[in-house]
Amino acid sequence: MADPITLSRRSLLQASGVTAAALALGVHSPGPASANEPTLASDPFTLGVASGAPRTDGMVLWTRLAPDPLAVDGHGGAPLANITVSWQVASDEEFADVVASGNALAQPGLAHAVHPRVTGLTAATVYFYRFTAGQWQSPTGRFRTLPVPGAGDDAFSFALASCQAWYHGHFTAYKHMLAEPDLDLVVFVGDYIYEYAITAGTGGNLWREGVEVGPEHGHETETLRDYRLRYSLFKSDPHLQAIHARVPMINVWDDHEVENNYVGGGSAYGLSDEVFAHRIAVAYRAFYENLPLDLVAKPDGPQADITSGFDVGSLARFSLLDTRQFRDPRPEDIDDPAFDDPERTMLGAQQEAWVGERLAQSSTTWNLLVNGVTVAAITEDRRDQWDGFPAARQRLLDAMSQASNPVVLTGDIHKNVAIELRRDFASDEDTNVGVELICTSIASDGDGSATSGPIDDWLQHEYVKLYDGRRGYVHVHLTAEEMHSTFVYVDHVEADDRAPRRVLAEFVTSAGDPHLRSV
Ligand code: FE
Ligand code: CA
Repeated sequence: MADPITLSRRSLLQASGVTAAALALGVHSPGPASANEPTLASDPFTLGVASGAPRTDGMVLWTRLAPDPLAVDGHGGAPLANITVSWQVASDEEFADVVASGNALAQPGLAHAVHPRVTGLTAATVYFYRFTAGQWQSPTGRFRTLPVPGAGDDAFSFALASCQAWYHGHFTAYKHMLAEPDLDLVVFVGDYIYEYAITAGTGGNLWREGVEVGPEHGHETETLRDYRLRYSLFKSDPHLQAIHARVPMINVWDDHEVENNYVGGGSAYGLSDEVFAHRIAVAYRAFYENLPLDLVAKPDGPQADITSGFDVGSLARFSLLDTRQFRDPRPEDIDDPAFDDPERTMLGAQQEAWVGERLAQSSTTWNLLVNGVTVAAITEDRRDQWDGFPAARQRLLDAMSQASNPVVLTGDIHKNVAIELRRDFASDEDTNVGVELICTSIASDGDGSATSGPIDDWLQHEYVKLYDGRRGYVHVHLTAEEMHSTFVYVDHVEADDRAPRRVLAEFVTSAGDPHLRSV
């Protein structure tokens, strides 16, 4: 028979909707901090705060306790014990009107990250949030809940970002993103960290001037400790912390969150499947620990579900795709007929069916696919991108044609590119179904230049409308009538974070007309 005390506690938790799993995973806590918790001798909120997984009635809030963020054991200097973190959400920046509050248990097993989901808020409304642990209070974050159809969904703005190799340059792009007068969301399309060894000096890759890193960063990330430390290093950037605090971020991963060019369960560098499964497991776990993700994205060993979606009223539907975990392996030989196998998959059958349904059943004006790698046909030699999955790409384009105004949001290549997506890339005719906006990197590849990279491969196609190899982001403003996309860049990122904001190109896409009109 069950212990009556356990039973009553369980009933209490069930009545409040708190499951034992949520309790154990830094989402909830049974109550306020108890007296025997260790005290925090210095400010544990050095990695900032964040929000994500947006809904009409709330948001996931995130922070991670790290009084000494770059401590080499990856635990951020937090005591190896459970610590209760309290959170508050208010309608005003002074927290005079607190509308929701709670506790979450930060645990060493999840690097003292907490992911409370706030519910019960009003749609299309701005809120402020903050955390408390011991005597310490976090910086204040803000977010706007999503609108419901017909109320506050007349316009929505987001910034598209990817590829933030911290060691290659300053996050100047985030500094300018922060100053955008209208911004509801950041859409991050992969390479939030890089796994490579960071080395200074001639031939090294530490191009961000004015910083030093310890020898613990001098090898490729392999262990949970390594990945945690890598997130801490990248998240130490003040502009990244500031943008996280200002607006929610949604994230899909690409390859470098684990290993360059990996596919499904397989390493691109010959690691055994057994060793690589461990590496995926710790990499996915550190990804969850360091981003404002829903509990559903918490990995189970080497598997995790980062696909999700949400609607911005009747204006836009976002669908987040995982283009790494379920893709088929890459044949060695470029002429291998396996590339043309109709069964060959990028998303896996289940995810493909899921996104197909979301597109077919959507009634929003815009339909955005948050995607890792380039969809458009560029060259047959781009085997890591959708070019290496021609049958799967055709199925995706066919599915996109079922929805109104599909837009693919992509990263990965460290170039600013704007493309009109054709249903039939083999034809010279305009068979456009939608557009693909590819954001350049925040810092990866350093300063770059307008023409760096294989520019001719891209501009040989009439449907590629822009190519530029400098750092920046894309700002996108949606209304029921049009999508206005602004490609923002900076001249340099290596020397300092002072390069001014420059506009490379602006395009308007009218609803119902899948073209990029230069303005
Ligand atoms: Fe990248
Ligand atoms: Ca990539």
